[in-house]
Amino acid sequence: MICAVVSKKGGVGKTTTAVTLAAALAEAGRRVLLVDLDSQASASLSVGVGRERLAPSVADVLLWGTPAREAIRASGVPRLDLLTASADLASADLELGSFRQRESRLAAALEHAAADYDQVILDCPPGLPLLAVNALVAADVFVVPVPPQFLALAGAETLLAAAERLRANYNPKLSLAGLLLTMVDYRTAETRRNVQRIRERYGDAVFAVEVRINTRLAEAPGAAQTILQYDSKASGAQAYRLVAEEYLLRAERLTREPVGPIRS
Ligand code: ADP
Ligand code: MG
Repeated sequence: MICAVVSKKGGVGKTTTAVTLAAALAEAGRRVLLVDLDSQASASLSVGVGRERLAPSVADVLLWGTPAREAIRASGVPRLDLLTASADLASADLELGSFRQRESRLAAALEHAAADYDQVILDCPPGLPLLAVNALVAADVFVVPVPPQFLALAGAETLLAAAERLRANYNPKLSLAGLLLTMVDYRTAETRRNVQRIRERYGDAVFAVEVRINTRLAEAPGAAQTILQYDSKASGAQAYRLVAEEYLLRAERLTREPVGPIRS
Protein backbone atom coordinates (compact mmCIF):
# COMPACT_ATOMS: atom_id res chain seq x y z
CA MET A 1 0.00 0.00 0.00
CA ILE A 2 1.31 3.44 -0.97
CA CYS A 3 0.13 6.44 1.07
CA ALA A 4 0.75 10.10 0.19
CA VAL A 5 0.73 12.66 3.00
CA VAL A 6 -0.37 15.79 1.24
CA SER A 7 -1.75 19.28 1.85
CA LYS A 8 -2.07 22.56 -0.02
CA LYS A 9 -0.45 24.30 2.92
CA GLY A 10 2.98 24.18 4.53
CA GLY A 11 3.48 23.86 8.26
CA VAL A 12 0.39 21.70 8.83
CA GLY A 13 2.27 18.61 10.05
CA LYS A 14 2.81 16.69 6.79
CA THR A 15 6.41 15.76 7.48
CA THR A 16 5.78 15.04 11.16
CA THR A 17 2.88 12.81 10.15
CA ALA A 18 4.75 11.02 7.34
CA VAL A 19 7.83 10.36 9.49
CA THR A 20 6.01 9.37 12.66
CA LEU A 21 3.34 7.30 10.93
CA ALA A 22 6.12 5.48 9.04
CA ALA A 23 8.08 4.91 12.27
CA ALA A 24 4.99 3.74 14.18
CA LEU A 25 4.11 1.28 11.40
CA ALA A 26 7.69 -0.05 11.50
CA GLU A 27 7.49 -0.31 15.29
CA ALA A 28 4.30 -2.37 14.82
CA GLY A 29 6.27 -4.83 12.70
CA ARG A 30 5.57 -3.59 9.18
CA ARG A 31 8.30 -3.19 6.59
CA VAL A 32 8.08 0.47 5.67
CA LEU A 33 9.60 2.73 3.04
CA LEU A 34 9.53 6.49 3.62
CA VAL A 35 9.93 8.57 0.47
CA ASP A 36 10.94 12.20 1.00
CA LEU A 37 9.62 14.37 -1.83
CA ASP A 38 10.35 17.79 -0.31
CA SER A 39 13.59 19.51 -1.37
CA GLN A 40 13.99 20.70 2.23
CA ALA A 41 14.71 17.03 3.07
CA SER A 42 13.12 17.44 6.52
CA ALA A 43 11.85 13.86 6.56
CA SER A 44 15.29 12.49 5.66
CA LEU A 45 16.98 14.54 8.39
CA SER A 46 14.26 13.52 10.88
CA VAL A 47 15.15 9.85 10.58
CA GLY A 48 18.84 10.44 11.08
CA VAL A 49 20.31 10.81 7.60
CA GLY A 50 22.74 13.74 7.57
CA ARG A 51 22.82 16.40 4.87
CA GLU A 52 26.12 15.03 3.56
CA ARG A 53 24.49 11.62 3.03
CA LEU A 54 21.40 12.62 1.04
CA ALA A 55 22.71 11.38 -2.34
CA PRO A 56 21.59 9.36 -4.16
CA SER A 57 18.13 10.78 -3.67
CA VAL A 58 14.66 10.50 -5.14
CA ALA A 59 15.78 13.22 -7.61
CA ASP A 60 18.21 10.71 -9.19
CA VAL A 61 15.34 8.23 -9.43
CA LEU A 62 12.74 10.62 -10.85
CA LEU A 63 14.94 12.66 -13.16
CA TRP A 64 17.92 10.54 -14.10
CA GLY A 65 16.58 7.00 -14.09
CA THR A 66 18.51 5.54 -11.12
CA PRO A 67 16.60 2.40 -10.04
CA ALA A 68 14.73 3.10 -6.78
CA ARG A 69 16.24 0.04 -5.10
CA GLU A 70 19.74 1.50 -5.67
CA ALA A 71 18.83 4.78 -3.98
CA ILE A 72 16.95 3.31 -1.00
CA ARG A 73 18.91 2.95 2.24
CA ALA A 74 18.26 1.83 5.80
CA SER A 75 17.30 4.54 8.32
CA GLY A 76 18.17 4.66 12.01
CA VAL A 77 14.88 2.87 12.71
CA PRO A 78 14.53 -0.93 12.37
CA ARG A 79 12.32 -2.00 9.42
CA LEU A 80 12.15 1.60 8.16
CA ASP A 81 13.95 2.30 4.89
CA LEU A 82 14.32 5.69 3.28
CA LEU A 83 14.45 7.25 -0.14
CA THR A 84 15.93 10.66 0.56
CA ALA A 85 15.14 14.05 -0.88
CA SER A 86 17.85 16.52 -1.86
CA ALA A 87 18.17 20.13 -2.96
CA ASP A 88 18.04 18.86 -6.57
CA LEU A 89 14.31 18.41 -6.08
CA ALA A 90 13.85 22.17 -5.97
CA SER A 91 13.98 22.27 -9.77
CA ALA A 92 12.24 18.93 -10.24
CA ASP A 93 8.96 20.49 -11.26
CA LEU A 94 10.55 22.20 -14.24
CA GLU A 95 12.52 19.13 -15.24
CA LEU A 96 9.62 16.73 -14.78
CA GLY A 97 7.59 18.92 -17.08
CA SER A 98 9.76 17.90 -20.01
CA PHE A 99 8.94 14.18 -19.68
CA ARG A 100 6.06 12.72 -21.63
CA GLN A 101 4.51 10.87 -18.68
CA ARG A 102 5.30 13.64 -16.30
CA GLU A 103 2.52 12.80 -13.81
CA SER A 104 3.39 9.11 -13.45
CA ARG A 105 7.21 9.12 -13.18
CA LEU A 106 7.09 8.25 -9.48
CA ALA A 107 4.49 5.52 -9.93
CA ALA A 108 6.68 3.87 -12.57
CA ALA A 109 9.85 4.33 -10.50
CA LEU A 110 8.34 2.72 -7.39
CA GLU A 111 6.60 -0.13 -9.16
CA HIS A 112 9.19 -2.79 -8.26
CA ALA A 113 10.60 -1.37 -5.03
CA ALA A 114 7.15 -0.92 -3.45
CA ALA A 115 6.70 -4.69 -3.55
CA ASP A 116 9.52 -5.03 -0.98
CA TYR A 117 7.40 -3.21 1.65
CA ASP A 118 4.09 -3.49 3.48
CA GLN A 119 3.66 0.27 3.50
CA VAL A 120 5.22 3.09 1.48
CA ILE A 121 4.71 6.59 2.91
CA LEU A 122 5.27 9.64 0.68
CA ASP A 123 6.07 12.99 2.33
CA CYS A 124 4.96 15.69 -0.12
CA PRO A 125 6.03 19.30 -0.59
CA PRO A 126 3.27 21.86 0.15
CA GLY A 127 0.75 22.71 -2.52
CA LEU A 128 0.15 20.61 -5.56
CA PRO A 129 3.33 20.92 -7.63
CA LEU A 130 4.13 18.15 -10.12
CA LEU A 131 5.98 16.29 -7.35
CA ALA A 132 2.84 16.10 -5.22
CA VAL A 133 0.81 15.20 -8.31
CA ASN A 134 3.28 12.36 -8.88
CA ALA A 135 2.72 11.24 -5.29
CA LEU A 136 -1.07 11.17 -5.70
CA VAL A 137 -0.77 9.31 -9.00
CA ALA A 138 1.52 6.70 -7.37
CA ALA A 139 -0.60 6.36 -4.21
CA ASP A 140 -3.39 3.99 -3.27
CA VAL A 141 -4.52 6.27 -0.46
CA PHE A 142 -3.74 9.72 0.89
CA VAL A 143 -3.81 11.39 4.29
CA VAL A 144 -4.42 15.14 4.69
CA PRO A 145 -3.13 16.72 7.92
CA VAL A 146 -5.41 19.59 8.98
CA PRO A 147 -4.74 21.87 11.95
CA PRO A 148 -8.13 23.04 13.22
CA GLN A 149 -7.54 26.68 12.34
CA PHE A 150 -9.33 29.27 10.34
CA LEU A 151 -9.01 28.59 6.56
CA ALA A 152 -8.07 24.96 7.10
CA LEU A 153 -11.48 23.92 5.78
CA ALA A 154 -11.07 25.83 2.53
CA GLY A 155 -7.62 24.32 1.96
CA ALA A 156 -8.89 20.79 2.47
CA GLU A 157 -11.80 21.42 0.12
CA THR A 158 -9.62 22.52 -2.82
CA LEU A 159 -7.20 19.64 -2.24
CA LEU A 160 -9.99 17.05 -2.28
CA ALA A 161 -11.37 18.54 -5.49
CA ALA A 162 -7.92 18.35 -7.09
CA ALA A 163 -7.47 14.75 -5.92
CA GLU A 164 -10.84 13.88 -7.46
CA ARG A 165 -9.64 15.23 -10.83
CA LEU A 166 -6.35 13.34 -10.58
CA ARG A 167 -8.26 10.17 -9.80
CA ALA A 168 -10.49 10.64 -12.83
CA ASN A 169 -7.58 11.37 -15.15
CA TYR A 170 -4.65 9.30 -13.90
CA ASN A 171 -5.24 7.05 -10.92
CA PRO A 172 -8.64 5.33 -10.55
CA LYS A 173 -7.51 3.44 -7.40
CA LEU A 174 -6.85 6.61 -5.37
CA SER A 175 -8.89 6.98 -2.19
CA LEU A 176 -8.86 9.21 0.85
CA ALA A 177 -7.55 7.39 3.93
CA GLY A 178 -8.60 10.37 5.98
CA LEU A 179 -8.21 13.94 7.14
CA LEU A 180 -6.03 13.95 10.26
CA LEU A 181 -6.46 16.70 12.84
CA THR A 182 -2.94 17.83 13.81
CA MET A 183 -1.46 20.40 16.21
CA VAL A 184 -4.78 20.43 18.03
CA ASP A 185 -4.60 22.95 20.85
CA TYR A 186 -7.67 22.99 23.07
CA ARG A 187 -6.30 25.92 25.07
CA THR A 188 -7.60 28.24 22.36
CA ALA A 189 -11.34 28.81 22.19
CA GLU A 190 -11.40 28.60 18.44
CA THR A 191 -10.10 25.04 18.34
CA ARG A 192 -13.19 23.28 19.66
CA ARG A 193 -15.38 25.15 17.18
CA ASN A 194 -13.13 24.33 14.23
CA VAL A 195 -12.74 20.67 15.18
CA GLN A 196 -16.51 20.44 15.36
CA ARG A 197 -16.95 22.13 11.98
CA ILE A 198 -14.45 19.82 10.31
CA ARG A 199 -16.00 16.72 11.88
CA GLU A 200 -19.51 17.82 10.85
CA ARG A 201 -18.45 18.58 7.30
CA TYR A 202 -16.34 15.47 6.67
CA GLY A 203 -17.80 12.91 9.08
CA ASP A 204 -16.16 9.48 8.78
CA ALA A 205 -13.48 10.87 6.49
CA VAL A 206 -11.80 12.38 9.57
CA PHE A 207 -9.54 10.17 11.71
CA ALA A 208 -11.09 9.60 15.14
CA VAL A 209 -7.60 10.05 16.64
CA GLU A 210 -6.41 13.63 17.02
CA VAL A 211 -2.77 14.71 17.31
CA ARG A 212 -2.49 17.39 19.98
CA ILE A 213 0.17 20.05 20.20
CA ASN A 214 3.25 18.48 21.80
CA THR A 215 6.55 20.34 21.90
CA ARG A 216 8.44 17.03 22.04
CA LEU A 217 7.28 16.43 18.46
CA ALA A 218 8.92 19.67 17.38
CA GLU A 219 12.16 18.83 19.23
CA ALA A 220 12.69 15.32 17.88
CA PRO A 221 13.93 16.30 14.36
CA GLY A 222 16.68 18.41 15.96
CA ALA A 223 17.96 15.23 17.60
CA ALA A 224 17.77 13.42 14.23
CA GLN A 225 15.28 11.00 15.75
CA THR A 226 11.63 10.21 15.40
CA ILE A 227 9.55 10.97 18.48
CA LEU A 228 9.23 7.21 19.08
CA GLN A 229 12.99 7.08 19.81
CA TYR A 230 13.41 10.61 21.16
CA ASP A 231 10.66 10.37 23.78
CA SER A 232 8.75 7.15 23.41
CA LYS A 233 6.21 8.05 26.12
CA ALA A 234 5.48 11.60 24.89
CA SER A 235 1.83 12.31 24.08
CA GLY A 236 2.84 12.89 20.44
CA ALA A 237 4.40 9.43 20.27
CA GLN A 238 1.30 7.80 21.76
CA ALA A 239 -0.97 9.77 19.44
CA TYR A 240 0.89 8.67 16.31
CA ARG A 241 0.85 5.03 17.44
CA LEU A 242 -2.93 5.33 17.49
CA VAL A 243 -2.85 7.09 14.11
CA ALA A 244 -0.91 4.12 12.72
CA GLU A 245 -3.46 1.66 14.14
CA GLU A 246 -6.37 3.60 12.72
CA TYR A 247 -4.56 4.09 9.41
CA LEU A 248 -4.15 0.32 9.03
CA LEU A 249 -7.85 -0.26 9.75
CA ARG A 250 -8.91 2.46 7.32
CA ALA A 251 -6.53 1.32 4.60
CA GLU A 252 -7.68 -2.26 4.98
CA ARG A 253 -11.33 -1.23 4.78
CA LEU A 254 -10.63 0.79 1.65
CA THR A 255 -9.07 -2.22 -0.10
CA ARG A 256 -12.24 -4.25 0.54
CA GLU A 257 -14.71 -1.58 -0.57
CA PRO A 258 -15.22 -0.49 -4.14
CA VAL A 259 -13.67 2.93 -4.57
CA GLY A 260 -16.32 5.60 -4.06
CA PRO A 261 -16.03 9.31 -4.73
CA ILE A 262 -13.29 11.01 -2.72
CA ARG A 263 -15.62 13.64 -1.34
CA SER A 264 -18.32 12.37 0.99
P1 ADP B 1 4.78 20.45 7.02
O1 ADP B 1 5.57 19.24 6.59
O2 ADP B 1 3.34 20.36 6.66
O3 ADP B 1 5.39 21.74 6.56
P2 ADP B 1 5.81 19.88 9.67
O4 ADP B 1 5.48 18.47 9.99
O5 ADP B 1 7.20 20.17 9.25
O6 ADP B 1 4.78 20.47 8.62
O7 ADP B 1 5.42 20.75 10.96
C1 ADP B 1 5.70 22.14 11.03
C2 ADP B 1 6.34 22.44 12.39
O8 ADP B 1 5.43 22.12 13.44
C3 ADP B 1 7.57 21.62 12.65
O9 ADP B 1 8.49 22.38 13.37
C4 ADP B 1 7.07 20.46 13.50
O10 ADP B 1 8.08 19.93 14.34
C5 ADP B 1 5.98 21.12 14.30
N1 ADP B 1 4.88 20.20 14.66
C6 ADP B 1 4.22 19.32 13.87
N2 ADP B 1 3.25 18.68 14.52
C7 ADP B 1 3.28 19.16 15.80
C8 ADP B 1 2.50 18.90 16.98
N3 ADP B 1 1.50 18.02 17.01
N4 ADP B 1 2.82 19.59 18.11
C9 ADP B 1 3.83 20.49 18.11
N5 ADP B 1 4.58 20.78 17.03
C10 ADP B 1 4.31 20.13 15.89
MG1 MG C 1 7.18 19.09 5.25
